[in-house]
Amino acid sequence: MNDCLFCQIIKGEISSQIIYEDELTYAFLDITPVNSGHTLVVPKKHSVNILDTEEKDICALASVVKKIAPKIIKAVGAAAFNLAVNNGSDAGQVVPHLHFHIMPRFPDDRHKLWSGVSMRSDELAKVAEKIRKEL
Ligand code: AMP
Ligand code: ZN
Repeated sequence: MNDCLFCQIIKGEISSQIIYEDELTYAFLDITPVNSGHTLVVPKKHSVNILDTEEKDICALASVVKKIAPKIIKAVGAAAFNLAVNNGSDAGQVVPHLHFHIMPRFPDDRHKLWSGVSMRSDELAKVAEKIRKEL
């Protein structure tokens, strides 16, 4: 997919601050970081999101996250990070090439996670039943 931004970055047609690469994956700094060290890890083989990605590429991404996340947070002086994947535009995905965000977090950095609302246990049971039927 030639016009894909992240495919162009992987091929070196658009510059990036590379952090790591191997046969299946490429990791580079996000240009609008949530915090210093915000890194994107992508599969070299184009896919849009987790659902259309081969399992071997997902496994490779997960193992790269485990390898590089501790080094990233150490380098920027953080003790924690968020790992996020936006799947689909309703979930905030802008670039349609699968990417794992590694976002270093600092105490009182004022970034908020999503908030939940409480649900009655009978409602939770109905939702769980609906999902189990799909599996
Ligand atoms: P998402 O909303 O999950 O699709 O995230 C896309 C991310 O890609 C955003 O955090 C952008 O800042 C980042 N991004 C967009 N263009 C570039 C680029 N040329 N180099 C590095 N990161 C980019
Ligand atoms: Zn792509």
